[in-house]
Amino acid sequence: MSILVLGTTALDTVKTPYGKRKHMLGGSAVHFSMSARLFANVNLVAIIGEDFPQKHINFLHSKGINLTSLIRGDGKTFRWEGEYKGDLNTAITISTELGVLSVFKPRVSEEQRSIKNIFLANVDPDIQMHLLKHMRSSHLVGSDSMNYWINTKRTALLKLLKMVDIYVANDQEARSLSGEHNLIKAAKALRGFGPKMVLIKKGEHGVLFYCDRFIFSLPAYCTEKVIDPTGAGDTFAGGFMGYLTKAGKVNEKSIKVALAYGTVAASFNIEGFGVQRTSVLTMPELNKRFNKFRNSILF
Ligand code: AMP
Repeated sequence: MSILVLGTTALDTVKTPYGKRKHMLGGSAVHFSMSARLFANVNLVAIIGEDFPQKHINFLHSKGINLTSLIRGDGKTFRWEGEYKGDLNTAITISTELGVLSVFKPRVSEEQRSIKNIFLANVDPDIQMHLLKHMRSSHLVGSDSMNYWINTKRTALLKLLKMVDIYVANDQEARSLSGEHNLIKAAKALRGFGPKMVLIKKGEHGVLFYCDRFIFSLPAYCTEKVIDPTGAGDTFAGGFMGYLTKAGKVNEKSIKVALAYGTVAASFNIEGFGVQRTSVLTMPELNKRFNKFRNSILF
């Protein structure tokens, strides 16, 4: 069971009410991998610059991530700086430095081209499209984006959405791309752009799943410990797509279980800065919290 994830491998600087960390290992593909690795073999497709520390590569390798298609370009690694204030639900982007990402043309090995489950994590939609065209026939394609790309590459993003099965967005992004304030209307509008399934993340308020056959919504896992939410969305997507890959089937039941695993995985991510918590997360821990979560929503 393999999954391929394309996205950013970044050096993140993050400030929350609990402190500030500079140039931590981060990026959409890295956060995704930390939860997806618990369910499937993760193949990471990304670019790093000359300044990317070898210790981060060793770390990813030690977590069992296949790094065949992690390439090093001439220039600086993608860097993101963000801050969280108040309810910790929304990141305020201070700066985004694309560095080597601006020249990235992803390529994967012949073997990886046949991987059936693909997640196009948050990155330039032109890069997402480039990879998707390079792949052989896929089984399940998920994609994510963010306001940065919705605002600067809207046309490319809309073109990509015609080719994906699941579009994952947070509530702000869903509203901004669809032009609808109500999230059900937003989900329907996004469905109209192409993806058969739409998943809207609402931070501490949980998640909404929409497809033609059913709508399903789950609350977030109840926790007081919120240190750094960076990567929660990607960790969610990793748990969700990872579970579907392991289950080997996409139906109402497996989607609901996958949503619960994504929710629980994300609840670990927010307990520490960067990948601090998710990098040591084990399947027994995840399952324990999954059962607790299940009991908290059923009566
Ligand atoms: P999330 O909190 O799940 O939305 O994602 C946070 C991660 O996204 C951070 O680790 C950043 O490095 C990464 N990121 C921030 N801005 C961008 C961007 N414009 N494109 C791709 N990745 C980004």
